[in-house]
Amino acid sequence: MRKAFEPKVSIVTGAASGIGRAIAAELVARGSRVVVADLDADGATRAAAELGPLASAATLDVADAAAVTALVQRVTAEHGRLDVMVNNAGIAIGGLLEELDERHWDKALAVNLRGVINGVTAAYEVMRAQGSGHILNTASLAGLIPAPAMLPYTTTKHAVVGLSTALRAEAASQGVRVSVLCPGFVDTPLLDDVYAAPASFGGSSVRARVRLLQPRFLTPEQTAKRAVDGLAANKAVIPVGFLAHLTWRTLRYAPPVA
Ligand code: NAD
Repeated sequence: MRKAFEPKVSIVTGAASGIGRAIAAELVARGSRVVVADLDADGATRAAAELGPLASAATLDVADAAAVTALVQRVTAEHGRLDVMVNNAGIAIGGLLEELDERHWDKALAVNLRGVINGVTAAYEVMRAQGSGHILNTASLAGLIPAPAMLPYTTTKHAVVGLSTALRAEAASQGVRVSVLCPGFVDTPLLDDVYAAPASFGGSSVRARVRLLQPRFLTPEQTAKRAVDGLAANKAVIPVGFLAHLTWRTLRYAPPVA
């Protein structure tokens, strides 16, 4: 029989805005205390206040491993446990290879990949010791298929899918569940960066191309509900949106390459 999903203590990174904020709200609605952790201190404070008494704010740069460990340890010490760690903070950095320099790559790797590794490492230590817990990492449809002219984003999101699915196997024996979220386009401020990023990708026509790929954007709330339902059902990969579903089904059922 499946264990009931009744989280009491959760941390969500990048929770001041968009998908992270909606996941925090969904976890609060299911009765969990939630730490709204974000680089944007004011945004985190505002979001926590809006989410009510079960939510509290923390300022956090996920790229800072020591800070992530300190937050996870503090929350666990305060509440005696950590049930859910959502490594969601991410940034959209795009461009063709010739347009990118070291700073673009370092930034994308630091936030989108190191940030997730930092959260996973800190949470796994605590959850392994308590013999239970859920880790949810936010990747993207761009973690399953390439997003054109979004090289650093595609690279880091593919790595997050790889990290999550590989860790899932070893974590299961420790009572820790690992899932990865792969949404298509979601209506959040991050999309402004997608539109702004690669001039070479067509400038203002990027919006039109995105709309062509996915005519109707997902809402953060839809995405969050699917994410938390997927977590409760212990899904390895949680695709959200038609394209992501199609892609994941196709990949999953693809015969092994000879
Ligand atoms: P968003 O911009 O609304 O929210 C991202 C949040 O992360 C912001 O509050 C920001 O302050 C925070 N953040 C950025 N860098 C940080 C850092 N170093 N440490 C801590 N917090 C930091 O964007 P969103 O669309 O909600 O994105 C959330 C996640 O979902 C990202 O990982 C993104 O790649 C992923 N995603 C988004 C879409 C989409 O279409 N919006 C699709 C698939 C995946």
